[in-house]
Amino acid sequence: MTKETELLLLRIALPIPLRRTFDYLAPAPLPPAGCRVRVPFGRQSLVGLVIDHPATSSIPVDRLKTITEILDPAPLFPAALWQLLQWSARYYQHPLGEVLDNALPVLLRQGAPAERRPLESWRLCANSNTEIAARAPRQQQALQLLLDGPLSAAELREQGIESAVMQRLADKQLVEKIDLLALQEDWRDTLLEHEADRHQLNTEQALAVATITQAQGEFAAFLLDGITGSGKTEVYLQLMAPILERGQQVLVLVPEIGLTPQTLKRFRRRFAAPILTLHSAMNDRERLDAWLACRNGDAAILIGTRSALFTPFRSLGLILIDEEHDASFKQQEGFRYHARDLAILRGRLESCPVVLGSATPALESLHNASNGKYQRLTLTRRAGGAQPARQEVLDIKHVPLLAGMAPQLQHLMQHHLQAGNQVMLFLNRRGYAQALLCHQCGWIAGCERCDAYYTWHQGSRRLHCHHCDSQRAIPHCCPQCGSNELVGTGIGTEQLESALTQLFPQWRTVRIDRDSTRRKGELESHLQGIRDGHYQILIGTQMLAKGHHFPNVTLVGLLDVDGALFSQDFRATERLAQLYTQVAGRAGRASKPGLVVLQSHHPEHLLLQDLLHNGYGHFARTCLEERRMLGLPPFSFQALLRAEAVHREKVEQFMLDAAGLAQQIRALHPGVLCLGPISALMERRAGKYRMQLLLQSAQRPALARFLEQWLPAVEQLSSARQARWSLDVDPQELF
Ligand code: ADP
Ligand code: ZN
Ligand code: ZN
Repeated sequence: MTKETELLLLRIALPIPLRRTFDYLAPAPLPPAGCRVRVPFGRQSLVGLVIDHPATSSIPVDRLKTITEILDPAPLFPAALWQLLQWSARYYQHPLGEVLDNALPVLLRQGAPAERRPLESWRLCANSNTEIAARAPRQQQALQLLLDGPLSAAELREQGIESAVMQRLADKQLVEKIDLLALQEDWRDTLLEHEADRHQLNTEQALAVATITQAQGEFAAFLLDGITGSGKTEVYLQLMAPILERGQQVLVLVPEIGLTPQTLKRFRRRFAAPILTLHSAMNDRERLDAWLACRNGDAAILIGTRSALFTPFRSLGLILIDEEHDASFKQQEGFRYHARDLAILRGRLESCPVVLGSATPALESLHNASNGKYQRLTLTRRAGGAQPARQEVLDIKHVPLLAGMAPQLQHLMQHHLQAGNQVMLFLNRRGYAQALLCHQCGWIAGCERCDAYYTWHQGSRRLHCHHCDSQRAIPHCCPQCGSNELVGTGIGTEQLESALTQLFPQWRTVRIDRDSTRRKGELESHLQGIRDGHYQILIGTQMLAKGHHFPNVTLVGLLDVDGALFSQDFRATERLAQLYTQVAGRAGRASKPGLVVLQSHHPEHLLLQDLLHNGYGHFARTCLEERRMLGLPPFSFQALLRAEAVHREKVEQFMLDAAGLAQQIRALHPGVLCLGPISALMERRAGKYRMQLLLQSAQRPALARFLEQWLPAVEQLSSARQARWSLDVDPQELF
């Protein structure tokens, strides 16, 4: 750039953890807001986004640097999404540069051009013979999957099928590579809907579809409160048709690991339009292509987990959130947003309806429905005609347990297995035993870096800390007294599995938890084995409950519900009620009624009784009443400041300084409570001391105004540089 060109000011957001923007110089014509530019920053070169063209800068012009490169000719984000991102940064008090960076595919963050390439996909050749030698099981599996239509290379990888397998099939001329998006005729001109699969809606479904469809082209929020199997997915599909016919796009958010291949198949069978999924098996290139295909309008439907919310669309006509109560919609680190809350705002900005669907709506959502923010639509009948499951509480006080199972539960299992059905057991603790204990002296193997015990993993033959991930070998004898009587205490899923293989050797057991599904494709092959009836006994953590429907399961056991009933976390009972209702709703079917058994030492617990006798809806009202009396969310709004440091004094100093500032600022904002600072429940984790400070107010705007003043001051504290800290607005976990 020559000296003569006049240089103008640009305000830029950079991907660094500071709550501020940076001014640079650039020659005219200036890139508009929303374009990426490359800038020098210290010794580095960073990619930032243009925010504004200010007239003046607080920094003298001769000290400003000039940008190196303009990366985009036009803004990357459409106006509505741009506004959403700015608003989110303010609401969650998170640095704008990081919020924007988070919304970009990795390749764009690195400066790659925003140009779409073909989306590598595969389909069967016209007269491909799908019989193939049994010694090539992966090839066989790939051909089977493609029988239902083309799949992207990423979707195949998610099933454990690598591109080498596809290449071998291509060499045999059984499959061919295509661009998924170039495949169909433009769906905006003629939408092909396969009407054959379309159900005749029942009255409740029809009312829901008609009500929501009326809101086409404008914002409205709906809570579709429908029991499991009441036909919510059918409602979604029928809502989408007129939106797609208008040439508008649909965004579907699902929980992590909630998108089953069957659901996707159901969507693809219904609409001959490009349906993209975002999932963990995608590489950076595929993510960018999917992002661009939504932005330019090539993709009709996008299905993804929470971060898909930040995808740009050419014309968004509908947002659906399935299983809206699921905790995975809240991001728990970095930019801690809630995708459900932001989806509502996005609907407002895009002028399109938003539908939250669940059999067990979050208490927040039920509250929003009762105060008129959402319109509630209910589906109370099971579409398939199955009967609701029976339920029973087993009092396990003074009862001898075998690997956590009461004798009565074992009898029931025997009975259901002999009848040729499947049995599902939930235990929310993975590993073999919760801790390793010396029977002689009581020594317990504790993690050196956390205030926590090691979990004993039999599979890997190691002790494993679930809080910091550190591992060590299982000791041969007690380091305190030398005894070799080391025993496990607290049953984990591994131990349950090995007990069941001994107790019921004639039936096959499968375990679904984070350890047994680490490798790509492993979860899917376990689930397929369950559907095929290869396994009769299913053990799992709550992972097993998400969105999976196993019609042959007639007995469900929840082995330990006391942990949730007496948790320090006020949301634990809500989560237990949701888990219970979800699994109860899936047990059994028309010809085989299901039975759900809960084991508890406190069968008389009021919330438990309410849930069992009056159902989730009634339970939720009781629970909400309790929260109203205690002034807890959704009747108040919270923000949690968390901090950690290797030295206790450093985190204490920072917290005291931050609390001191809060007390000063609080004087200007009556109604904001400041609770703490207190040590975190687990005070030491991964070698760091942890503390927290809770801010709470009955008024959301009051809390927001308080945070807006407080946080910049906190950031300026000299002690703030001595600790790692973060702010969580609307925290879902307080510990
Ligand atoms: P949900 O998503 O609420 O759990 P689904 O949409 O999966 O329920 O529906 C459950 C079952 O009922 C599916 O097999 C579906 O095909 C069927 N179904 C849905 N709506 C109807 C209807 N109106 N008539 C008959 N069967 C239906
Ligand atoms: Zn000992
Ligand atoms: Zn640890």
